[in-house]
Amino acid sequence: MKVLLIHPEEARGKYNFKGIIENECLDLEYLWAILEKEGHEAALWDGKIEDRKAADVIDAFAPDAVFLSGRDFQENFLLEYAAYAKEKSPDCIVIISGIHAQLCSDRLMKPFVDYVLKSFDLYKVPEILRIHKTKEAPDLLGAMNDICFQKDGNWISNPAVFFDINRLERPNRSYFDAHPDNYNYLDLPHAAWVRTAYCCPYRCKFCMRNHMNTGKYTRRDIADVVEEIAEIKSDNIYIVDDDFLYDEERILTFIRLIRKKGIRKKYICYGRSDFIATHEEIVKELADIGFYYFLVGLETIREKDIGKYNKRSTLKYNEESIRLCHKYGVHMMAMFILDLDFQRKDFTNLYRWIKEHELKHVAVSIYTPEMGLPESEIYKDRIISQNPGDYDYLHLVCKPENLSVKAYYRCYYRLMIRLFLKAKRDGVYDFLDYGSYIKDFIKGIFRPKA
Ligand code: SF4
Repeated sequence: MKVLLIHPEEARGKYNFKGIIENECLDLEYLWAILEKEGHEAALWDGKIEDRKAADVIDAFAPDAVFLSGRDFQENFLLEYAAYAKEKSPDCIVIISGIHAQLCSDRLMKPFVDYVLKSFDLYKVPEILRIHKTKEAPDLLGAMNDICFQKDGNWISNPAVFFDINRLERPNRSYFDAHPDNYNYLDLPHAAWVRTAYCCPYRCKFCMRNHMNTGKYTRRDIADVVEEIAEIKSDNIYIVDDDFLYDEERILTFIRLIRKKGIRKKYICYGRSDFIATHEEIVKELADIGFYYFLVGLETIREKDIGKYNKRSTLKYNEESIRLCHKYGVHMMAMFILDLDFQRKDFTNLYRWIKEHELKHVAVSIYTPEMGLPESEIYKDRIISQNPGDYDYLHLVCKPENLSVKAYYRCYYRLMIRLFLKAKRDGVYDFLDYGSYIKDFIKGIFRPKA
């Protein structure tokens, strides 16, 4: 069969981080490898980097099946492309998966969708393709975990089960390799994604990551991870685990094996401030083998938020982790949440704190109750936007507590522009056309909704 793998764009405005942060479509590349082994022909379309339109690619490739994967804020695009593929060819099998499907499968159960896959088990896809049109399909599908499917006009939702990441084989990176000018992470060009674990062992309340894979953490044999890194052609590696800096012994083995193999690459990974603050020797060693960015959810500068978010770190650890990153020359990308209870002074205090602590790389997100999380129940009476495209952390989807929506946005824009200007002074984004980027940011806020 011919299978088209689709990763929709994140936004249709210009403020979509194109050329700045582009994420390799690793789940689609895993599926590509699995499909190839089964004798299927696959092609990939990544809306983030493509100039071609999805509809044109669907027309030209004429797939027997399309597989779409994305986040909640991509829901409109996922459904638009699914509907187009089905309209173009009613026999085309339409499957939607990804993070959004794991949390909110019901939102994707539309007449033009055949299956929703709500786990990381991509091996279910060739099984579905094999049985889809057989007369045994109703029974076989009924017994298949992880899927939602239509039967006699109704949707059936089977339970999702845990997937062991060690079952995965190497991804097919031919699309990534064919786009050497894409998939940058800021100043690191063409950074290849490597996943060593699914889910996260922590339980921060605002975070959907720890709900993936039925909430169970699973990780790969670290020696196999190092083998994979050695095979990758790119010099930059983005380890996309929700929290790579977790197990001290595992990281020490990783460092030893990277050295043993003589691998010289630059690395990006997520880590927590408590781990960084309490593992100076490991930070030093990671810096030495090429760790360039630590992406760290500092989240807040207010003591009261730490417990509220169930962050299980401390403000002291936040400060110490910054100090150690500065000491060993690892760039910290510090991520903060702009809480819905923010007052004007909280925006100003945050900017001052960032300046005082000489943080160069900063990302701020408007607090967004993730669709499908138990936490979102608390906010259900305050929702002001039903458009999934607004769940991108750049938009208010809930009414703020202490400011009007207008006043909150004013404080937010002011903070963003101050951070942009600070980053420009710090030379962080010298590779960007700054003036047009700020203009695009403002335009993006008022972008036409999909
Ligand atoms: S540590 Fe990070 S990935 Fe894990 S639950 Fe907390 S915010 Fe999410």
